[in-house]
Amino acid sequence: MRGGSVAVVGGSIAGSAFAGAAARLGAEQVVVLERSPGRLEDRGVGICIQNERFDELVRAGLIGDDVRRHRLTTRRWVTASPGERDPRGRELWHQPMPFHSHHWAVLWQALRERTPDTVEFRPGTTVTTVGGDQDGAWVSDTGGEGGGGGGSSAGGAGGAGERFDLVIGADGYRSAVRAAVCPEARPEYAGYVCWRGSYDAALLEDGLPDGGRGWPSDECTTVCYPGGQVVIYRIPGLHPGTTQVNWVFYAPTPEWLEPAGPTSIPAGSLTDQQLDELDRLADQLPPYWAAVVGLTPRERTLLQPLYDLAAPRLAAGRLLLGGDAATVVRPHNTSGAVKALQDAYAFEQAGREAARTGGSWSTLLSAYDRERTAAGRELVELGRKLGRAQVTTATDWPAMTEQSMSAWWQQQLIGGGGFGGQPLARSPKPPQA
Ligand SMILES: Cc1cc2nc3c(=O)[nH]c(=O)nc-3n(C[C@H](O)[C@H](O)[C@H](O)COP(=O)(O)OP(=O)(O)OC[C@H]3O[C@@H](n4cnc5c(N)ncnc54)[C@H](O)[C@@H]3O)c2cc1C
Repeated sequence: MRGGSVAVVGGSIAGSAFAGAAARLGAEQVVVLERSPGRLEDRGVGICIQNERFDELVRAGLIGDDVRRHRLTTRRWVTASPGERDPRGRELWHQPMPFHSHHWAVLWQALRERTPDTVEFRPGTTVTTVGGDQDGAWVSDTGGEGGGGGGSSAGGAGGAGERFDLVIGADGYRSAVRAAVCPEARPEYAGYVCWRGSYDAALLEDGLPDGGRGWPSDECTTVCYPGGQVVIYRIPGLHPGTTQVNWVFYAPTPEWLEPAGPTSIPAGSLTDQQLDELDRLADQLPPYWAAVVGLTPRERTLLQPLYDLAAPRLAAGRLLLGGDAATVVRPHNTSGAVKALQDAYAFEQAGREAARTGGSWSTLLSAYDRERTAAGRELVELGRKLGRAQVTTATDWPAMTEQSMSAWWQQQLIGGGGFGGQPLARSPKPPQA
């Protein structure tokens, strides 16, 4: 098992973690093929990670405990109610929130720094096709910094690209590697979108009548409105000592969005007319939260349609899937980044076990597939359930009380699945025959 060559397609959260794991397993060559030409720092969005899940990842060596993050303790649910005087709306309920929030780029940078120097990153490389046989796998790409180029080595058995002993698909929800592992698995549109935005928290000072002081720093606020909800929390800024405001606004599909398989619209690409729709949505929020969303510079707002996907298998031949390429979970679970890191951990553990028992690549791949396919399916199911309860068939928020909110929340968690992700050590049940 030691030695060999590994290509990782995608250099984001899953890709960085898998590359590190492959290098630690002793692969002689580890190459990361990433479509984006630059570094990935500009993906300025927030990620929350539950404290216990984070601590497990630290103990497992996937991440350092010195990553800059922002402490959250409470999640407050509020809504606009007729006659309500408080501009922050009526509180429906609050619950403990033992999470920290992260800036995506700070988290990614920390993962990247832990990747051994022997790993070769090839930015600006888009993988177009992938294939494999029992002896290895190949990738064709558009070429990028440092090599590739759609066929730098001779392909075997139908492969016209560069050959590796193993190709890992960490290339997100529209994965090219997944098309080779299980072409029948397609992400399914959840039927609603999220608008997202972030900005320097210093803007609150002049932008809100109370300078933002009525919103405690460790509080995540979920603002419920008839079309869904907005989740608002602070995250670390890109530079030490700074903080940003981050929000995710779940909303019905805008009429102008392509109806079948809509794609994301990145920050800076939404038109003024499209952004006017967000203003109309925000008008339904209590005025304080409408103002918090309204402070977002227009060029810092993006739109993401939401998808569900649980690939029925995560390995075939010498191809393996991890992160969102394997499983796309609605963000209500706050588990996607954790799951991506846990996938890399499971891969590393399966590799160590295979090496200890004299196993082969196929032993590793089967063990990984068995464990992670089931884990992904549970998370996707929970995401669907939370999405239905909180957005598509959301309750009549103003009619809710503290007691009914608590019961409503518990109801969503029946059946498990892992809100905030599953414990690292837990082995999910194998799928039913
Ligand atoms: C609104 C929202 C909020 C979220 N909040 C949370 C949260 O609070 N907590 C949490 O844990 N998770 C959260 N998630 C989920 C989390 O962001 C993802 O699960 C996680 O970032 C997935 O990482 P990934 O590396 O698998 O995929 P991605 O980040 O999608 O990375 C895929 C990479 O592959 C590259 N790529 C794609 N195709 C190719 C190709 N053909 N060739 C080469 N490179 C390619 C892309 O450029 C990209 O860099 C949220 C998701 C959303 C949408």
